[in-house]
This record gives sequence, C-alpha cells and structure tokens, in this order.
Amino acid sequence: MTAEADAAGAGRFTLDTRLSGALGGRTAQAVERAFGYRTVGELLSHYPRRYALRGELTALASLPLDENVTIVAEVLEVRVREMRQRRGSILEAKISDGTGILTLTFFNQKWRENDLRPGRRGIFAGKVGDYRGARQLAHPDYELFDDEAPLTVGDAAAKRWAEAPIPIYPATGTLASWQLAKSIALLLDGLDDVDDPVPDDVRESRSLLTQRSAFEAIHRPETEADWKAARRTLRFTEAFVLQTALLQRRADLRTHSTTARHPVAGGLLERFDASLPFSLTDDQLEVGAEIAHDLGEPVPMNRLVQGEVGSGKTVVALRAMLAVADSGGQSALLAPTEVLAAQHLRSIARMLGPDLGAALMPTLITGQLPAAERRKALLRAAAGQSRIVVGTHALLGETVSFADLGLVVVDEQHRFGVEQREALRLKGQHPPHVLVLTATPIPRTVAMTVFGDLDVSTIRELPAGRAGIESFVVPLAERPGWRARVWERLAEEIEQGRQGFVVCPAIEPRVAEDADPPEAEGETEASEPGASVASVLAELTAHPRFADKRVAPLHGRMSADEKDQVMRAFAAGELDVLVATTVIEVGVDVPNASAMVVVDADRFGVSQLHQLRGRVGRGSVPGLCLLVTAAEPGSLALQRVEAVAATLDGFELARVDLELRQEGDVLGATQSGGRSSLKLLRVVRDGDVIADARERAAEVLGADPRLERHRALAAEVRRRVDREASEFLSKG
Ligand code: ADP
Ligand code: MG
Repeated sequence: MTAEADAAGAGRFTLDTRLSGALGGRTAQAVERAFGYRTVGELLSHYPRRYALRGELTALASLPLDENVTIVAEVLEVRVREMRQRRGSILEAKISDGTGILTLTFFNQKWRENDLRPGRRGIFAGKVGDYRGARQLAHPDYELFDDEAPLTVGDAAAKRWAEAPIPIYPATGTLASWQLAKSIALLLDGLDDVDDPVPDDVRESRSLLTQRSAFEAIHRPETEADWKAARRTLRFTEAFVLQTALLQRRADLRTHSTTARHPVAGGLLERFDASLPFSLTDDQLEVGAEIAHDLGEPVPMNRLVQGEVGSGKTVVALRAMLAVADSGGQSALLAPTEVLAAQHLRSIARMLGPDLGAALMPTLITGQLPAAERRKALLRAAAGQSRIVVGTHALLGETVSFADLGLVVVDEQHRFGVEQREALRLKGQHPPHVLVLTATPIPRTVAMTVFGDLDVSTIRELPAGRAGIESFVVPLAERPGWRARVWERLAEEIEQGRQGFVVCPAIEPRVAEDADPPEAEGETEASEPGASVASVLAELTAHPRFADKRVAPLHGRMSADEKDQVMRAFAAGELDVLVATTVIEVGVDVPNASAMVVVDADRFGVSQLHQLRGRVGRGSVPGLCLLVTAAEPGSLALQRVEAVAATLDGFELARVDLELRQEGDVLGATQSGGRSSLKLLRVVRDGDVIADARERAAEVLGADPRLERHRALAAEVRRRVDREASEFLSKG
C-alpha cells in the first residue's frame, strides 16, 4: 500500500495508514480485535466518552455491578496478607472517592505495594464484582497520575496540568482507556497534514476547527473549551459527510433509467377509482399525485410513504400498482410476515372486486405454499399473468422471476433493510420503482439520516368516520386492585358482541428450556416471571367471566398454518379474545375488534404500543385500549406508557419517544448499518446540525457532483461507505 510505504519512509501517517504500520503489530491487533479498527483514521475517530478531571473523583456508591468501569479515585490503604488455604498472597487496596470505598484485589502481586501508595490518585478500570456484600475490582488495570507533576502553587504549568481534562475512552476488558490514549497520542504525533473534508468557506462561516486541530483537541484537550469546540467540529463533519454520501447515493439511483409508467384512459386505475366506495382523503390524493409523477419518469422512484395505521396507505399503494399494470407491468408487494402477506392478498382481492381481480390475478408466493401451488404461482409471476404478486422475503429467492417487474412495494420498512431493497431492485430488467410504506412516523431529521436516499410523502389525516379510541393506563404499582377490573371491562366488551386482544411481552414465563425466541417478530422473554401468553391464558381460562368465552393464543412459536387458522377464526368472529404476542402488531385488520389490553405495557416501546392500539377502533366500533403496567410512579417506564395514553397523534408520540428513549436504539440496526455508524451525531439533539449539513452538502454536490474539486470529502465519503459495506458483510 502506498500510504504505508510513505508513512514508513517519512515516519508520518495519513488517515489511511494501517495501524499495524503506525503502532506495531501487537497493539494494532489488540485494537482490531477490540473495535475492528484497521486504519489511523478509524482509531482517531474513536472519541472519548467523557472527560475526567484530576481533582474530581468518581462517585463509587452507584457503580453498576458486572460492568466494566473506568473511574478516578484516590488510594486509601494497602494491605498484603498470605493466603491460608493455599500458597500465595493477596494484595488488597482500598480506593475512595471521598465517600464510597472500593476494594481492589490482586493475587501474588506484592510489588504493587510500592505503586499503590496511600494518597495517590489515578484512573482504575475493571469489572465491578461483589465480594461478601462489598464492591470490588479484581485485578483491575490502573494508571496513577504522575507524582512528578509540577506542584508549585501559582505555577501556570501546574494549574494547566491540574485542569487538563483526562479523556475516558470506550474501553474493553483487554484494552484500557489509557492504553487507547497512548496509542492515539502516538498517531497524533505522527499525523501528517490532514486535508479538510469540510470546504474552507463552510468551516469559517461556522467557526469550526480544522480537522487536524479537532482531532488534537478532542483527544488531548488542555481545557474544557478545547474538547467542546472539537466536538462541535467533528459532529458537523460527521453530519456533512453522511449527508453527502446519502445525497450522492440518491443521485446515483437517478442515473439508472427505467420504464416510465402511465395509467391509460379508461384503464384499470380509472375503473378501480370509479369502484371505490369512499372518496380519497386530500392527503391520499396528494401523495397519489406525487407517486404518479415519480412513476411517470424514466428514472426509478424511491419514495417512502409514512402514515398512521389506518390512514389508507394500502389504497394508495394499490393505486400505484394499478397504474403500473395499466402500462403492462407487474408489481411485487413485500410484507414482513406470512400472516400479513396472506392478509394483504385477501384485502387486495376484496378491494379489487371480481372483475379487476380476474384481470390482475393477485397471487401469493410464500415459503409455506404447498409445492404444486407454489409452482403455479411462480409460473404466473414469470409469465406476467399475475400483475400483483404478494409475499414475504421469499420473493427475494432466486426461483422467483417476473416478466416485467415495474414496482416494488415494501410494507413496514422497519423490518426490511436496505440490502433487501437492493436485492429486489435487481429483479427487474430495469431497476423497478420502489415504494416503501411505514406506519411508524419518522421525525424529519431521522428521515433525513436514515432514509436520506428516499423521497418522503406523508399522510396525516385519517379517513372520516372512525369511531376513535379511548386509552387508559392501569397503574398496578399504585392500584393493584385494578387488575381485576381490566378483565371485567374486557368481558363487558365481548358481551356487547365485540372482540378483543390481550398482548403480552413473552410467550411463556421464563424457563431454562426456552431458547431462541423468534426474534423476527420482536418477541422477548420476560426477564422475570411476569405476564406471558401462557400465564394470561391460564388466568382467563380460570376466570368465571370468561367461562363461556372463546379465547385462543397467537404467537410466533405456532406454525404459520396454526397462526393463519387462528387469525381467520378471529376475523370470522369465531373467537372472542386473542391472547397474543406482538405477532399482531402490524396490519391485522378486524373491524369488530374493540378492546386492546396490553399487559406489562412498559416492556414495549412507545411506537410499538401505538401500533398495537391501532389494531382496534378500525371500524365504526369505538376502541378501548388498556395499558396495564406495574412500573413505579415517576419512572421513565411509566412516563412512556402515559405518553401513549395521552395522545393518538403518532407524530407527537414519535417526538416524545425520541426524547424519552436512549438515543442508541432510535435507528434500528438494519437501518443505521451497524452501531458504529453514528459517532458523535445524535439525530434527536442534532436536528439543526443535520439540516444545515444537508443543505451545504447539496450545494457542494450541485456545483461538483463527482466531488472532483473536493478530494478530501470524496475520500471521507468513500471511507464511510467502505465501513458500512464491511459492517454489512460482517453481519453475515
Ligand atoms: P393503512 O394501510 O394505512 O393501515 P389501509 O389502507 O389498510 O390503511 O386502510 C384502512 C381502512 O380504511 C381500510 O379498510 C380501507 O378500505 C379504509 N380506507 C382507506 N382510505 C379510505 C378513505 N379515504 N375513506 C374511507 N375509508 C378508507
Ligand atoms: Mg396497511
């Protein structure tokens, strides 16, 4: 590699220099094993999690058990004793933050007595254990602050030393924070000039540091102001590079050509519109027009439609499929589960009616079809007879081919990754148009970050004539007696001829045999014996009010056939209550269902609860949603549940959710491309930075689409894309 050769020759590194060349093989290997970094630039982008001050000690009282911690503390006393049972010695040191005390233990390392002298301060790192009720670190790593520091009072150097923030890095058991600091210092000392990815005028107008000084100041700050300025710079840079990458990808997609699809006069779409028993809402019309415009272009559409559960996205998507059918093309609809695919097929057939149905021949292809049926379905797709093919990811299989695939509709994007979209894109002779539907409202800055390569349409208004939903929190911590009332209320709904759901976080109470729950459906094992489908089912079966009611379970461990059978029976009114997991979260549509009881509601996410609630109140029957929780008053968990009960507005909930939620899981792993893909940027907090960066990135690309005059930016974009690709590959 030339970068390496150069570096070796001049003793200087670039961002692309291999760590093995810069740090030596063993350290480089340790870094790669711990974090996967291979280059100087990657390790330099390993930013401190926080900064400690020499004068400030870490509160020891609240250290989490079993976690790796890095703390600043002072040595109180050291004792060495011989072990009684076997040969050898134990050295015990007590360290303190002034109030709490933590014990460090070392076996057969007497010599540390000389090191760990009372009064010395340093950083200690290790896993917090518990020994006879006392917190301890066994064989921790530590680094003591330099005794030789200039300590003359009033000496400027001494003051600087005492005030310099000490970076605390995300570390592992094998690679301590200060070891990382040392390696990074080596890199900084040897780092050549760095060309700035952010153009000069943008940097200057925002008073940002250069990339080189930002690296210096974030890793070796002299003051708090140093690292703050560095963070601001690196955060903008991160947003700017990301937006450039996304906008470039979007532009690249538009360089492919595809078939423009126009509805024909008196054709299938017109016939469908004329047969609709309702008139479309203004939002449906507007989004429909945006889609029609995209489809009519000879470049592939990439559009996300977001709208509440029940806002009529399916109708909008179906109209797009009809426009494509008018021009002779086929459409594929991808659903996240077999149950939902089957349901989509039924509702599409119903909406089309017999005549249009015969013309379009909507067909289901899933992994579960009997061989003969599957062969027939595959033929219809390949021959182009079936204009609408519905399925799960089985549609991505190599055996499925289309005569002329014009449009791919992906329902519930959050269960499909970019890579699946990509695979489907390759199915047509030309890349098909792509329409993504999601009922999870996505705030603008999240959309810009996660779906920055898609255009976004929004359906806000719900069709008129919905009876509405009332939501209540049942706070068992304060009112344990209300639990009985929940079942009473459910029984009352059933007795009025309605149906209901009871949703539980787990299938069975946690038992050792319970391995590997079906993750795809988001089911979790209860972490302590709590509500589960099995326990609630037992409770209801034994309940006098439910003696004459028809109650059945539904969860991901049932076979697709069993699930389908239960869903059909419920839809046909042959069952009164489904006790289920989140299998029913998306898309299940039974207008007569009026009651939704969520047990242990605090174990679900805000948007998940909102989705679940969307299963009732879909027809003219008013819905009732009871969110049962034992979460403590005032806890974050209870606040989240209360937020759901307080509003039906999914966009408002998405906002609240982002505020309450830990940032880390805002971007699902599939969407963000791995946990390390955002470093300093936080989509919630940094909305303004992201929007600003996107505008600047668009300006730069507008003037220089191939980034020929912005080489450093092009290089950063390439590094980012490479990193994502390798993360994707390593996900297998
Ligand atoms: P989504 O896919 O957004 O959850 P659907 O398209 O399944 O919503 O629509 C939910 C229900 O509302 C369906 O029964 C559908 O027929 C009906 N619907 C859709 N649009 C309208 C409208 N404009 N007026 C009345 N009912 C509508
Ligand atoms: Mg739908």
